Amino acid sequence: MEKYLSDRIKSLSESQTLAMAAKSRELKAQGIDIISLSLGEPDFNTPDFIKEAAKQAIDDNFTHYPPVAGYSEVLDAISKKFKRDNNLNYNSKQIVVSNGAKQSLANVMLTLIDPGDEVIVPTPFWVSYAEIIKLAGGIPVYVKSGVSSDFKITANQLEGAITEKTKLMMFSSPCNPSGSVYSKEELRSLKDVLVKHPNIFVIADEIYELINFGEKHFSIACFEDLYNQVITVNGVSKGFAMTGWRIGYIGAPEWLAKAIIKMQGQITSAPSSIAQKAAQAAVEADPGMVSNMKTSFLKRRDFMLNELNQIEGMKCSTPTGAFYLFPDVENFFGKSFNGKRVENADDLSMYLLEEARVAVVTGNAFGNPECIRLSYAASDEILQEAASRLKQAFAQLN
Ligand code: PMP
Ligand code: GLU
Repeated sequence: MEKYLSDRIKSLSESQTLAMAAKSRELKAQGIDIISLSLGEPDFNTPDFIKEAAKQAIDDNFTHYPPVAGYSEVLDAISKKFKRDNNLNYNSKQIVVSNGAKQSLANVMLTLIDPGDEVIVPTPFWVSYAEIIKLAGGIPVYVKSGVSSDFKITANQLEGAITEKTKLMMFSSPCNPSGSVYSKEELRSLKDVLVKHPNIFVIADEIYELINFGEKHFSIACFEDLYNQVITVNGVSKGFAMTGWRIGYIGAPEWLAKAIIKMQGQITSAPSSIAQKAAQAAVEADPGMVSNMKTSFLKRRDFMLNELNQIEGMKCSTPTGAFYLFPDVENFFGKSFNGKRVENADDLSMYLLEEARVAVVTGNAFGNPECIRLSYAASDEILQEAASRLKQAFAQLN
């Protein structure tokens, strides 16, 4: 019956982060003791003050269809957050609230990309970028970075990838999967290239803004000469441990926000009324209220990094944001254990799942087939156990 499926869905790959998470759940349900470091989500529960706002929203009967872009008070709260945290001026007509940053990204791409348009995607990139670009008919143009450049691209590389078909460039900083954060000066050098091409737009995915261990977060839209070309994407999933509430948002030029509202109005309408009111409480709060999570993530980063660095052959960068490690594992390709040969990162991920019972995600999914991604958003005990299993599994390969 699959012949009846559209070409569109047949050519779409499954999200490998979600697929690996589903596989670990399935194995756990069979009673196999799997440690999942595959899914990127905080292990913390949503803070109580946010849950209270949601309960209040139900009691206050926020139960009807909200306006497609989001409630006006939610848009105002996001506008203030952009000003307070990012020094960005987005008025409420420039903001659209969606079902997670994932839908925000899809909205922007479906609204901007025409078939044949090229979209520059520095590698490593978050899994869904490439698939959503293709869904919109666009052509992803990958610009490669690796562990030796701290997984960041240079202005020259960006310049070299631009053609007359380039419509968009997209990146995340802090980055999923590398955890790298572009400094203000690095962003300035990319910006200097982009302003020479006013027909190219930039999606700045800042969903990990609050999980940043280095300098204060800097938004590329803060450069005034680039502002009109930027769509700033953010959300509450990561910083506020609200992955299940499904709220993301954009700040964009008004003409684009208007078009995105038209798109969203035909596909999903506004996101859940109750989740919106919870997200309002989150963005109105002092970000200091959730800094305990960042502190824990930093401790866990140091622990896991130290453990992985003890494995001979492993090449790690030191991520300054998000909650992932993205080691280059090429040195293990061509090695075997018990008749199992590891030729690439896909094989290595399967080997670690079967031998160490630790689920990670192949770097292939993120455009860097020499790497694997581990999420360290797990408890100290789980990470200790995972590290010892991983060390043993890697030591066995020869
Ligand atoms: N962008 C990046 C870089 C992400 O890691 C995620 C997490 N899945 C998202 C966007 C989407 O987040 P959400 O839809 O949960 O808001
Ligand atoms: N962003 C998370 C990850 O990369 C969540 C999974 C997803 O939505 O793909 O693991």
